[in-house]
Amino acid sequence: MTQSVPALEDRMIRHIQMTGPLPLAEYMHWCLADKTDGYYQSSNAIGRAGDFITAPEVSQMFGELIGIWLIQAWQALGSPNPCNLVELGPGNGTLMADILRGTRVDPAFTSAVSTHLVETSPGLTKVQQQKLKEHDGIEWHVSMDTVPQGTMLYVANEFLDALPFRQYVKSGKSWLERCISVDENNTLAWVLGDGQIEPDALPAGHQDEPDGAVFEISTIREGFVKRVCEAVAQQGGCALFVDYGHGQSGFGDTFQAISKHSFANPLENPGKADLTSHVDFSPFANLAIKSGCKKTGLLTQGEFLLRTGLLERAGMLGSGKSEDEKKRIKGEAERLALPDQMGGLFKVFGVSSTAPLWPFD
Ligand code: SAH
Repeated sequence: MTQSVPALEDRMIRHIQMTGPLPLAEYMHWCLADKTDGYYQSSNAIGRAGDFITAPEVSQMFGELIGIWLIQAWQALGSPNPCNLVELGPGNGTLMADILRGTRVDPAFTSAVSTHLVETSPGLTKVQQQKLKEHDGIEWHVSMDTVPQGTMLYVANEFLDALPFRQYVKSGKSWLERCISVDENNTLAWVLGDGQIEPDALPAGHQDEPDGAVFEISTIREGFVKRVCEAVAQQGGCALFVDYGHGQSGFGDTFQAISKHSFANPLENPGKADLTSHVDFSPFANLAIKSGCKKTGLLTQGEFLLRTGLLERAGMLGSGKSEDEKKRIKGEAERLALPDQMGGLFKVFGVSSTAPLWPFD
């Protein structure tokens, strides 16, 4: 006889009753990665019909321009053959499909790279396999550890924001960890835990923040970036991380739950909404240089796409097309690059084992 697993919320409540409040990072991990009810077990999260839209789903130009960046970075490395093209958290596989199509302009690049996708969700793996079925030899991994050694070209779009993070709330002279507990109605509720963060780990000016101020930190995100940078430094290569976030650490609550393109209460219906927060890019350059990388750069997505040729690409795509098509392409370019749309909030962090690093110089 098979026993059915209780719903995620019931299991979490039992766990909290037995062991105490859950730090936000653990709550996020349960909600996103639980083997039966985790959000990324479903395969229809991303896209117009899903919960949220990412840049590759907005326009093919995004992946094509990342492809152009990859060719340039690969040439700056001396056009190594063979080398590994690795995407972390590939979602629907759209970005990789556009990269592989866009990079056909350089057959030497195409024949040098083996493609590896690192994905933990079985549902999304199937979506990616379907989307990329015309490409032979792609390998899937549930962890970056099994990608073979070699020159590494990494890309990751909206991957870091999906990794767990912690929040600390100013309470008198201390900063206490924000946790999830169970209230008298047996529903999930916010509490402050006993865990504290050392003042050294806080940005300057923390003494002046008011009670209730929030500081966010993610050692898990930093850990991923560090591992990527170490592989780049040791084996040669480059990496590009694109995500929404800020270039300087600060204070503020950016935890968000998105369901069907709207904000939701992150403690309601666990496992049914996408949970993320803004990525703090400020530690990455140091991590990269300490790991032995030669060059790093940070641009807004708008600047990055304009420098890699967004306007030229939009012009080429629109040439000879109907006025409606031209309008659609212009709208997509604006959505990706305008500062008040995705162009300002989203940042692009690039790193390479060699200098210079186009278009960050
Ligand atoms: N890059 C895609 C999707 C972003 S959503 C796009 O731009 O559209 C986040 C992706 O990261 C999903 O594919 C999710 O399943 C994957 N993911 C989350 N945690 C992961 C982990 N620890 N390792 C690998 N993939 C992960």
